[in-house]
Amino acid sequence: MAFRRDYYEVLGVPRNATQEEIKKAYRRLALQYHPDKNPGNKEAEEKFKEAAEAYAVLSDPEKRSHYDRFGHAGVGEQPFTGFSPDIFGDFADILGSFFGFEGIFGGRSRSGPQRGADLRTVVRISFEEMATGVDKVLQVPREENCAVCGGTGAAAGSRPVRCQVCAGRGQVRYSQGFFSLVRTCPQCNGRGQLISSPCRECKGTGRVEKRREVRFSIPPGVEDGTRLRLVGQGEEGLRGGPPGDLYVDIQVEPHEVFSRQGADIHVEIEVSAFAAALGGEVEIPTLEGAKKVALPEGSQPGETLVLRGHGLPRVGRGGRGDLVVHLKVMVPRKLSAKQKELLRELLAEEQKQGGSVFRKVRHFLEGNG
Ligand SMILES: [Zn+2]
Ligand SMILES: [Zn+2]
Repeated sequence: MAFRRDYYEVLGVPRNATQEEIKKAYRRLALQYHPDKNPGNKEAEEKFKEAAEAYAVLSDPEKRSHYDRFGHAGVGEQPFTGFSPDIFGDFADILGSFFGFEGIFGGRSRSGPQRGADLRTVVRISFEEMATGVDKVLQVPREENCAVCGGTGAAAGSRPVRCQVCAGRGQVRYSQGFFSLVRTCPQCNGRGQLISSPCRECKGTGRVEKRREVRFSIPPGVEDGTRLRLVGQGEEGLRGGPPGDLYVDIQVEPHEVFSRQGADIHVEIEVSAFAAALGGEVEIPTLEGAKKVALPEGSQPGETLVLRGHGLPRVGRGGRGDLVVHLKVMVPRKLSAKQKELLRELLAEEQKQGGSVFRKVRHFLEGNG
């Protein structure tokens, strides 16, 4: 059996603490470590459970006296089997009584806490936004607990009956626009039960549809199709259950001139055959704007120029990839009279020198002639 901390120590109360002091200590811890306030925090969740466990024993005079005499063994080797699922319910009860809303959480007839539904959406960003990273704001339509009835859907004093829509299961599947999800049953709002005297604000569902602003950052260099998980930004949980998560699928729009391979960016530029032969300077597009780079003399079609560190940020590894410039050497289709004259001169010069391009062929022709 795993080591367990002393229950009085867990709650931070003396062994002769009154029921009021125990309640107060538990309330403080429960509020502090509640999963709603600490989404995704495992440590907080453990502390929350530990406090709930301690409270369950110390708040019960009979269990407490057993515990005082025999320690953990006094409340059984496996005292909390089946206990965990009800932790949130107990919390709701105690929270309810503390806030003076006794009965609002449905007493023992509830079906237990339930995690809020996950939501999923797609965000399209430009290539430039991908390169620099970008902050986004989403208006997320999501269900939240009704503030008037505290999410129970019940006016005080009503009794629930089994829901016909979901046959008491509490869930239905459907899609809404580009959000597709398994959602809690809209009829009973996941309770599997209906309330005879419904809250007026939410018409007994316990839930209201709200648009909520969710801000998040997309890191620079993300790959197309990356899925971000925004913990706790899904729909609110039921009866004290933790909230769901929001998944954002990132789509990066293709760029007019740039393409990417990992952290490297590729771009093709056209260079005239004359410029390629002579070499010199060419202007190339980069993420930071146009940049002049040296074009080596005698550059060939399909050759590449590589600008180190001018690619995309490497996600999680630091540094940047390269910009790879592919040369597309263009042979002119139309020539001016002057150009023709110059080219003929050039050609004559080349032939005089046994122009490299034709050497093989001439050798072949001469050999056969
Ligand atoms: Zn239902
Ligand atoms: Zn309501």
